[in-house]
Amino acid sequence: MRAAVLHGPGDIRCEDVPEPKILFPTDAIIKLSATCICGSDLWPYRGLQDLSGPMHMGHEYCGIVVEAGAEVRTVRPGQFVVGSFCISDNTCPHCRFGFQSSCVHREFMSGAQAPYARVPLADGTLVAASETPSDDLVPHLLATSDVLGTGWYAADAADVREGSTVVVVGDGAVGLMGVLAAKEMGAERTIAMSRHESRQDLARGYGATDIVAERGDEGVALVLELTKGVGADSVLECVGTPESMAQALACARPGGTVGYVGVPHGVALDGRQLFYGQKRMLGGPAPVRRFLPDLMDRVLKGKIKPGKVFDLELPLAEVAEGYRAMDERRAIKALLKV
Ligand SMILES: [Zn+2]
Repeated sequence: MRAAVLHGPGDIRCEDVPEPKILFPTDAIIKLSATCICGSDLWPYRGLQDLSGPMHMGHEYCGIVVEAGAEVRTVRPGQFVVGSFCISDNTCPHCRFGFQSSCVHREFMSGAQAPYARVPLADGTLVAASETPSDDLVPHLLATSDVLGTGWYAADAADVREGSTVVVVGDGAVGLMGVLAAKEMGAERTIAMSRHESRQDLARGYGATDIVAERGDEGVALVLELTKGVGADSVLECVGTPESMAQALACARPGGTVGYVGVPHGVALDGRQLFYGQKRMLGGPAPVRRFLPDLMDRVLKGKIKPGKVFDLELPLAEVAEGYRAMDERRAIKALLKV
């Protein structure tokens, strides 16, 4: 089969690779209905993450089970499934506590920018849909696999609830999903920090009540002005740079919470500032598996349309153009047809 393989910085190719096979009795093989490129795929693409060799890309997926290992019980061939980018057994103490992304058997999914993929620990990782969805629902279901699940976790970790005032730092796909999640969780006011007009429009469509285009101290000052000097109850940090984290912390009110899902690159925290500022923090890779049944249900019932973040659709053969478009910020997120 032809799949996406990263050979070095900027060098992503669609090339022949062996078809995946069942390696363990707990594995399943799925035929993907669609796949996509993640913002985090850009780290190795930009040369900011070391490669030990050619890397099979892709960790966001949904599709039909074509083969299940002998010990797989909860999914069977023919079912439409969505899985998390974090492989989990869903039975260990961390999984049962709702933190499947810290599963004692955690692995990170790879090789999903392909027509077929092997999913380890299928019982603990995959969720079957009650029925095979129509084609128009596939992008929205695909989004639950990572980008929506991650935005949702940011809002959950930031303790968004009915009536909350929320700030979202970052207008990438995850930030936009954070806006959607905040609305679904009952936020009264959601301030999206975004400089780009098309992303501001999407943020408004997903429920942002205010847009702040400024960054840094200027942006923080505007958020404080909008919240009468108080700050936000909940802040979603969806970037991962020192600047974005500082901005997020400065926007949170005392006792407020920052949910951070941008992978930190060079972020250092000042203990004394946290101490006197009284800010709570929870972040990390999203335990998407915890949220999947609920998120899939919301999509299948037509309540949410997270797939609108895909503003570019390409055949898998043109995967290189997808990476380029996202790298140059010409596209928010690229869906790949397999
Ligand atoms: Zn586990």
